[in-house]
Amino acid sequence: MADRMQKYVSVGRKTPEKRSAEERRNDQREIYRDFTPEAAARQASRCEQCGTPYCQIFCPLHNNIPDWLKLTAEGRLDEAYARAQETNNFPEICGRICPQDRLCEAKWACTLEQAGHGTVTIGAIERYITDNAWKEGWVRPRRPRRERPERIAVLGAGPAGMAAAEELRALGYQVHLYDRHARMGGLMAYGIPGFKLEKHVVERRAGLLLAAGVRFHPGVTLGKDTTLVGLRRDHEAVVLAFGAYAAKALDVPGAERDHAVAALDYLIGSSRHLLGELPAPPIDAVGKRVVVIGGGDTAMDCVRTAVRQGAVAVTCLYRRDRANMPGSAREVGHAEEEGVAFAWQAQPEALLGVPVDVIAGEATALKPAGAIAVHAVRTRLAAAGSDGRRVPEPVPNSGFVLQADLVINALGFSVEDAAALTQGAVGMTERATVAIDRRSMMTAVPGVFAAGDAVRGPSLVVWAIRDGRDVATQVHRYLSATPRSQLRAMRPDAVPEKVAG
Ligand code: FAD
Ligand code: SF4
Repeated sequence: MADRMQKYVSVGRKTPEKRSAEERRNDQREIYRDFTPEAAARQASRCEQCGTPYCQIFCPLHNNIPDWLKLTAEGRLDEAYARAQETNNFPEICGRICPQDRLCEAKWACTLEQAGHGTVTIGAIERYITDNAWKEGWVRPRRPRRERPERIAVLGAGPAGMAAAEELRALGYQVHLYDRHARMGGLMAYGIPGFKLEKHVVERRAGLLLAAGVRFHPGVTLGKDTTLVGLRRDHEAVVLAFGAYAAKALDVPGAERDHAVAALDYLIGSSRHLLGELPAPPIDAVGKRVVVIGGGDTAMDCVRTAVRQGAVAVTCLYRRDRANMPGSAREVGHAEEEGVAFAWQAQPEALLGVPVDVIAGEATALKPAGAIAVHAVRTRLAAAGSDGRRVPEPVPNSGFVLQADLVINALGFSVEDAAALTQGAVGMTERATVAIDRRSMMTAVPGVFAAGDAVRGPSLVVWAIRDGRDVATQVHRYLSATPRSQLRAMRPDAVPEKVAG
């Protein structure tokens, strides 16, 4: 092994080449170029092949990272791909968008980083292995060896629903995947912008599911076009994977008068336009001064989308400092390169929709119509709160005004009330997430399961995949343990009577 691996002393860490900020400001393409086969093999050869691979432990899917790095270094790419896809339904997607600096490439997860050599570029190599497999035609639909008669409804075609559908179909079930949108992918298609994840990458995965025999039903909204009762009546099991879409309120005067748009409305509108579903983006930053409030990855996606739409100035307002930002440091760096300004340790106090020249006391301000004055105040960081994060406090007499034509609320999301969507059948936890039994992943309704952001709250694609795989195992266990005659008999009574009307 030693001749091929452990080259971290002679080979430095190198990510694939990044396109120039100037070039990428003008398009929606991913910002990293592809590894060459030689570069991928060289970077993979840096791995120490630790006895206890913390990278594998910190990967939510427990991917066998050391093995596929070694196989890549040896040029055995078909075997590397086989190993990578054993534990991950969408390795090339995780390779692109996992926040590796907080997972497999975190400083606590890679021995090389601790020794000052820089981590192995695990995500970029994972992406390379699977993109190469697609090119070579090694990625095949997972058609079952034998068919099973049971029908399963998966509601929500995001990564949790897609992973569950793929696993259940591979076991032979008749899988029906429902979504309100026209395409599969959930936030991978409609929320995460193309400059992080190009849409053809998601679409080819959707195609693979169809080729395996998953039946996709677009344009079906739970609570409008269908009900839980209806789904349960027509299927032996139901998986709810409807994500987390309720925007957290911006609790300052003026926000209630629609002076701020919700981040997901902005991003989904932009994606739907770019996918050809809408003639124009419903919320367009072109020619506007944009202020984005929040410091997570969604805020970064908003600021970088605004840059690409042609905003004249984009500012991110965040109440903590850079070190305490929830978003990935890598994404902040990309945004800065693309020209986004950051107002660190500042929080809004009011959004006022009066002409900016009056607010700012300047006679020269242009475009008063629609202009918004974001009244903000500086903060300082006090002691850590119950969540372990330092609490920002307003600094007295530190107010200032930012002039904006578009303000985007990127403070985060919560899960829509499942009780409202299911006519009271499925409950919520105290954390405002869908209530399930942790072990069986089943809700209080027999045969109705839940997974992904709907259960976890806003999280990551890699965790949604993990949940999708786990829920598939639990559904299979349930269907295998329950006699078919009993399953059928249970169906009409599965949902509480009060709901059935
Ligand atoms: P979703 O992907 O949200 O899919 C849920 C699906 O359910 C959607 O297709 C939706 O249309 C459908 N649905 C919802 N309600 C209904 C209904 N009533 N009827 C029918 N269908 C319904 N994670 C990362 O790992 N890396 C990133 O870079 C990253 N960037 C992000 C950027 C943004 C802007 C956002 C918002 C999130 C980002 N995430 C990222 C998080 C990640 O996208 C989610 O954690 C993940 O998509 C959750 O998967 P899911 O399948 O549970 O839900
Ligand atoms: Fe790292 Fe994500 Fe791949 Fe796991 S799935 S190895 S965390 S990039």
